[in-house]
Amino acid sequence: MKTYDAIIVGGGHNGLVAAGYLARAGLKVLVCEKRYVLGGCSATEEIYPGFKFSVCSYVVSLLRPEIIRDLELPRHGLEILPLPSTFCPQPDGKRSILRTDDSMESYRNVAQFSRRDAEVLPRFARQMTRICRFVKPILSMVPPDMDSWNPNELLKLLELGRGFRTMDPELRYDVIKLFTMSAVDYLEDWFESPELIASMSVSGIIGTFLGVRSPGTAYVLLHHYMGEIDGVFRAWGLPVGGTGGISLSIARAAQAFGAEIRTEAGVKQLLLKGDQVRGVVLENGEEIGARAVLSSADPFVTFKKLVPEGQLDPRLLDSLKHYKFRGSSGKVNMAVDRLPEFTCLPGMGKHLKGDISIAPSVDYLERAYDDAKYGNFSRRPFINVVVPTVSDPSMAPPGKHVISCFVQYAPYQLKDKSWDDERESFGDAVVDTLAEYIPGLKKSILFRQVLTPLDMEREFGITEGNIFHGELSLEQMFFLRPIAAWARYRTPLQGLYQCGSGVHPGGGIMGAPGQIGAREVLKDLKQKRPAHR
Ligand SMILES: Cc1cc2nc3c(=O)[nH]c(=O)nc-3n(C[C@H](O)[C@H](O)[C@H](O)COP(=O)(O)OP(=O)(O)OC[C@H]3O[C@@H](n4cnc5c(N)ncnc54)[C@H](O)[C@@H]3O)c2cc1C
Repeated sequence: MKTYDAIIVGGGHNGLVAAGYLARAGLKVLVCEKRYVLGGCSATEEIYPGFKFSVCSYVVSLLRPEIIRDLELPRHGLEILPLPSTFCPQPDGKRSILRTDDSMESYRNVAQFSRRDAEVLPRFARQMTRICRFVKPILSMVPPDMDSWNPNELLKLLELGRGFRTMDPELRYDVIKLFTMSAVDYLEDWFESPELIASMSVSGIIGTFLGVRSPGTAYVLLHHYMGEIDGVFRAWGLPVGGTGGISLSIARAAQAFGAEIRTEAGVKQLLLKGDQVRGVVLENGEEIGARAVLSSADPFVTFKKLVPEGQLDPRLLDSLKHYKFRGSSGKVNMAVDRLPEFTCLPGMGKHLKGDISIAPSVDYLERAYDDAKYGNFSRRPFINVVVPTVSDPSMAPPGKHVISCFVQYAPYQLKDKSWDDERESFGDAVVDTLAEYIPGLKKSILFRQVLTPLDMEREFGITEGNIFHGELSLEQMFFLRPIAAWARYRTPLQGLYQCGSGVHPGGGIMGAPGQIGAREVLKDLKQKRPAHR
């Protein structure tokens, strides 16, 4: 049997990051990816001849700068173009909220809705940056063990508490608000324009089964502010070559450090001896040995599918039942023969290079959520659109474009209906809604791909189609992700580790779970002699 120091289940970006760090430390590493292509939810695929799509994730911000540095990702092809604008067209066909990288331009635009809000915006941005500075170090740490009396664990808790206490009171209260309020309530503390509040609140519902008025969504909003591009905090960017470009650069870095990567190599189960992991069995029956196995698959797949039945404490497995996946998002990818033309802002402009939201009012967004609460997809959904070909023409033939639409809500469980019957009606609802703002859209469509949460579960292995391997709600974050007893990358099985978005600090193209997971493996393996070198 061939053996490695470490096998990583899953070649999504987190699995690849883990491989990069382990190989860089001199370990003999193998990545086993089930699909034909690397990247998982961050993959680029040519699903229509000549057109390349970021099939699932489409923009990046959270990718940790130290990972980019440590793995030298730019040398391996990583290139990210900053998104210069956030555009929210209004249903009157005349106005739009357009915030851009030019502060005067943003001021002028927002002032059309509220002069006061235009003045408050820069202060809000500064406050978010200050809060993110406090929260960010938490992204790189192993959550403390709340049940331990180990002095190191107590010290970690003490440091967190001290950091919080030394913040100035205004900031401290704001952190508490962000951790407890709804996105809309929080934003209403700052702004008065309903249009601006609606356009900003949508960052609070991405990947959740909650509405913009539901408590807990202010934290999701903060999560989406925590990134940076080229040192610019809160900035989002478009990876050249799609989000698969990110995964491929990480894969190349890992390979340059000596990692082996196999695609179409699905892991069927773990090989165990007692409660010690000895390797994996692939779907084709091949057995491969390892001292450590890191799973970047989600917690349900890891603990319910990969671990043979009867190996885990049933009470803990029961707690996993209460971990919320309940996917709420869909994706519609289109190939079009021309640039989309918005009624309210015709022609080419900065608004097409950035992030576009169909979110005309808070009530509109809440109604979209109401549909989902009762088991239907939103008839008039929130849509987040990007047209990557405006900045990266390599994604389509000359003059043609791809349009990526991230959509909410698309509940995993439909009432009395099946997604296999409803898929195209959902796609129609998305196109019909967009066509109200882009009248020429329907005629321009050459091809469309509709991904429901069920499709995402089937194709990408994400349980119930949850885009973050489990909701980013507070009760399943930090030392509770995925559940209290298994929140620190290790598991009850010796040699089995978690390194995907289902562990702290959660989902998004961040790489942190992979990086921290690898660090914990290295700590453990260092204490034992490498067996396979
Ligand atoms: C529709 C959608 C849109 C999104 N948009 C964004 C966005 O714009 N920006 C952003 O930052 N985040 C976005 N996200 C979230 C982000 O993409 C994910 O949180 C992140 O990519 C997850 O990375 P991962 O490596 O943890 O897991 P995954 O990407 O899920 O990778 C896990 C890998 O494991 C493989 N696997 C599973 N089981 C096995 C097995 N038994 N054997 C071998 N391999 C296996 C899977 O095939 C997969 O490749 C989006 C996600 C989705 C689904």
